[in-house]
Amino acid sequence: MKIVIGKSISPGYAKGRAVIPGVCQPELTKVQIRLDHIEAELGRFHTALENSYRELEQLQARVQSELGSDSADIFSAHLMFLKDPQFIDRVEVCIRNDRMNLESAIQVTIDELAQLLEDSNNTYLRERAADVRDLHRRLHRQITPSDHRQLAQLAPESILVARELLPSDLLEFDREHLVGIITETGGETGHAAILARALGVPAVTGIANASQIITPGMPLLIDGQSGKVVLEPAPQELQASVARQASYDRIVQDAVDAEECECKTCDGTKVRLFANIGRPFEVDLVARHHLDGVGLFRTEYLFLDEPYAPSFERQREIYCKVAAALDGLPLVIRTLDLGGDKWPAFLKPRFEANPNLGVRGLRFSLFAAEELFHAQIRAALHAAKEHNVRIMLPMVLGQADLQHAISIIHKIAEENGIINLPPVGALVETPAAVFAIDEILANCDFISIGTNDLTQFVLAADRNATALIDDYTILHPSVLRAVQRVITAADGAGKSATICGEAAADPRVACLLVGLGARRLSMNPVSAAQVRYAVRAARKDSLEQLAQAALTSDSTQTVSTLVSDALRSIYPEFGSGTVSV
Ligand code: PEP
Ligand code: MG
Repeated sequence: MKIVIGKSISPGYAKGRAVIPGVCQPELTKVQIRLDHIEAELGRFHTALENSYRELEQLQARVQSELGSDSADIFSAHLMFLKDPQFIDRVEVCIRNDRMNLESAIQVTIDELAQLLEDSNNTYLRERAADVRDLHRRLHRQITPSDHRQLAQLAPESILVARELLPSDLLEFDREHLVGIITETGGETGHAAILARALGVPAVTGIANASQIITPGMPLLIDGQSGKVVLEPAPQELQASVARQASYDRIVQDAVDAEECECKTCDGTKVRLFANIGRPFEVDLVARHHLDGVGLFRTEYLFLDEPYAPSFERQREIYCKVAAALDGLPLVIRTLDLGGDKWPAFLKPRFEANPNLGVRGLRFSLFAAEELFHAQIRAALHAAKEHNVRIMLPMVLGQADLQHAISIIHKIAEENGIINLPPVGALVETPAAVFAIDEILANCDFISIGTNDLTQFVLAADRNATALIDDYTILHPSVLRAVQRVITAADGAGKSATICGEAAADPRVACLLVGLGARRLSMNPVSAAQVRYAVRAARKDSLEQLAQAALTSDSTQTVSTLVSDALRSIYPEFGSGTVSV
């Protein structure tokens, strides 16, 4: 038995046997073709392109019907790529001029492109390299039909082990029998991770050399709560896992059964739950999980891989469509939070020694991308004419930048003959904003608290640094004091405050936040059932006592233990693992 620890990107437990698809890294035979074979090789290429296109279209239609409307958007980029003249031309040149066989021509071309993306400073672009490799595999399967559809029929209890997780893998895999996923690399924000969560398949990433240390058919256990993977588990480990899984399944089922119930503590304090979304199709999850609207639409995700700056028309269309899908529930459009590690493909790359502390968020919109900001505000204002839309400004520091942005919103509204302005809010996620909270509240209609950045800046701890994951979290008493200060100020000013960082998605932390006075939580929609379940099991006065104890604690670890101990009785799953976020 061997235990390896990775990072969970989709929760749950799984027990099964490893499947390592040979097609993940196709070993292509490099052959130099004869002159009189060139035309035949080009013919093979075009047939493979056409078949792949058709296959993707069918897949897109299937996803559309199974996972809801625009989930299928993920495949649009793949479809476009298959028709991209530059890609087609490059492969043809390799065949014609270098006399490469089709397999090598495709591999060389895709490797070049994937390498370009992988070398990018932009996390989002780096993650797109997986999409390109996904296409490589698709084309490869068309060329070597023996591999084709190998993965669509799996043995019961199969656990996929792969170098990286690719979106279409999850949709083509025999889902009835796919119980878990282990990968070597892959980001939590990638499409495939989002899909894994939407499909409810537990997944762990960051297992170094997974496809070497694990062999096909090897018995495995996945703990998608802690990121633990057990190779060849001993009988007692297997037994323990059965018990853990049963308890988890019970909790999930109870949570799902309670999804239609109001989210309130057992002594009657109501807590509103909202969704954080980044892509239009995710809006469908609001109704599915009985949420109160969208508390955070990360609009920059829409445009990171676009070759051109997003136009006013396109943005208006998207915002209207998302808002219409909410059928009157609020949509909080956060203006582009660009800069830092979110650098769009349509802007020239730029070097900053500390990008998280550089030209980003609102300061990027105000001083480095005015036109972009204006187009977005115009689009949001137009959407707000017909729908329940709110505008939220990221990385506000205080009165000056907030008023500057609001004056632009007023000017654009006036130029467009818009009289009724939507509510405008500030995202409080810097220490500066915490200290300026009264002035901020006096100048806007609502606030949200971005616990991801607030934690990073209060503790001077990079939110992407794996080594800091355990001790530098929202549970540090100083971060909790900052959060409480902001909630209390908002209550005093009679304005709403919504927590919208990842913290709200952890049922334990969500309960603590309620104890601190939070009544509005916005989160990844798939986490909502568990948060609702935990809140419904808790008493407001107990949560307040817990919050008071946490505020006067001395470290993250002390608070983590306090929270686990206090909540274990109402939510058994609290007993395992530490509280993070
Ligand atoms: C946050 O910082 O908590 C937040 C909501 O914004 P983002 O995670 O997009 O930076
Ligand atoms: Mg933020």
